Amino acid sequence: MPSFVILEKCDGCKDSDRTACMHICPNDLMVLDAERMKAYNRDPWMCWECYNCVKICPQQAIDVRGYADFIPLGASVVPLRGTEDIMWTVKFRNGSVKRFKFPIRTTPEGSAKPMGDYPEGSGDINSVYLMCEPACTGASDLPQM
Ligand code: SF4
Ligand code: SF4
Repeated sequence: MPSFVILEKCDGCKDSDRTACMHICPNDLMVLDAERMKAYNRDPWMCWECYNCVKICPQQAIDVRGYADFIPLGASVVPLRGTEDIMWTVKFRNGSVKRFKFPIRTTPEGSAKPMGDYPEGSGDINSVYLMCEPACTGASDLPQM
């Protein structure tokens, strides 16, 4: 279900050089039409459907275009982002509405530890170890090829 921008709602992040959706998209798909100050998904077929752009948009201007088995044609899925959760509102063609609320964090805001309780890695780019290895595997050392 790729994302697409609702043009009436998008304000181009108020004339920003790099909009929130451009900043967050891991596949560099969101672009800004600087003349109209409207963003758009330049290649929905390449969309990873991660919904980072949907969640970050301050105007809730990015919608999800649902597959027919999930969202019947003509319906819509709109997220409302909060600090603790996201409320997804699904509007069906017959007018009925369903809402699903999903928590987006398990820790208080600002308290997440990127490394958990594991020590910082060596930062050696030539090391065969991944982040926090070998400690996070439970082994004292790992075989190396
Ligand atoms: S984040 Fe939202 S408001 Fe900002 S440019 Fe993208 S679609 Fe428009
Ligand atoms: S859903 Fe993810 S991959 Fe698709 S346009 Fe938005 S941020 Fe990019």
